[in-house]
Amino acid sequence: MSRRRFTFLITTLLGEYCLRAFASHVMAQPITEVTKVNASDEEPWRLSPALVIHSAAKRYQKKIQELAHGHLLDRSASFLQRSSSILSTLRQQASRDFPETQAWQWELHTSDEAEESSYCMAGGKLLISLPQAQRMSLNDMELAMLISHEMAHALLHHHFLEDREALRRFPSLQTKNFEDFQDAVDEDDVILTALAEFDKAQEYEADLVGFQLALRAGFAGAMLIRFFEKLRKHSAYPNFDSKSHPAPAQRLQRLRTWYQQQTPTAKQA
Ligand SMILES: [Zn+2]
Repeated sequence: MSRRRFTFLITTLLGEYCLRAFASHVMAQPITEVTKVNASDEEPWRLSPALVIHSAAKRYQKKIQELAHGHLLDRSASFLQRSSSILSTLRQQASRDFPETQAWQWELHTSDEAEESSYCMAGGKLLISLPQAQRMSLNDMELAMLISHEMAHALLHHHFLEDREALRRFPSLQTKNFEDFQDAVDEDDVILTALAEFDKAQEYEADLVGFQLALRAGFAGAMLIRFFEKLRKHSAYPNFDSKSHPAPAQRLQRLRTWYQQQTPTAKQA
């Protein structure tokens, strides 16, 4: 999910991929571990969800300050209001579906950076891209799917799980301080390549769990799926995976298939 932090952004985890079985598998095992957060760069650290969330909050504040300084933060009051209103609806559902996240301090800001897409950091810190929403002409339902997908990455502790996988594959990363470790997981080509399939699987999972969250929150499935139709339409290579994301056409197809299996009458979705 490349911190993934970058939007749109699992595969061989369960062999033959099964969306429903996988989602229920993960959701039945919420990560509730709470450990002492070691915030010092100088001391050894032990990876935990709490440490990842603590670090994300610091990174988020830094990013927000940079955007404000560059006059790229929350420049459209109406887009900020639309996005915040959708988050408000989705987070109420999230607190019911993922009770261990009830104490989270969700935050949402919008960015006007041209090259950056939307993402949600660990612990519920969202940055939604105005240029991305404008390029795709997202209506409120489609915007809800985007926000719900990003929220799912945080709700499923994808950042922690990716960090844990990186440590498992590259144990020497433990010798770095935590911030440098996270930078390496985000930017090191060797690590990114090694985690590519893991990251793509997380994207499929965020698609499904985000979709389910938005459905339970009251959004219409057929309208939510249009987000993925637009994603395919706006992609230069709709049938090819990127380094961190599955092919848009595949994402659309998997979600459509799942939804049709749930609701046989929604075949037009
Ligand atoms: Zn994603």
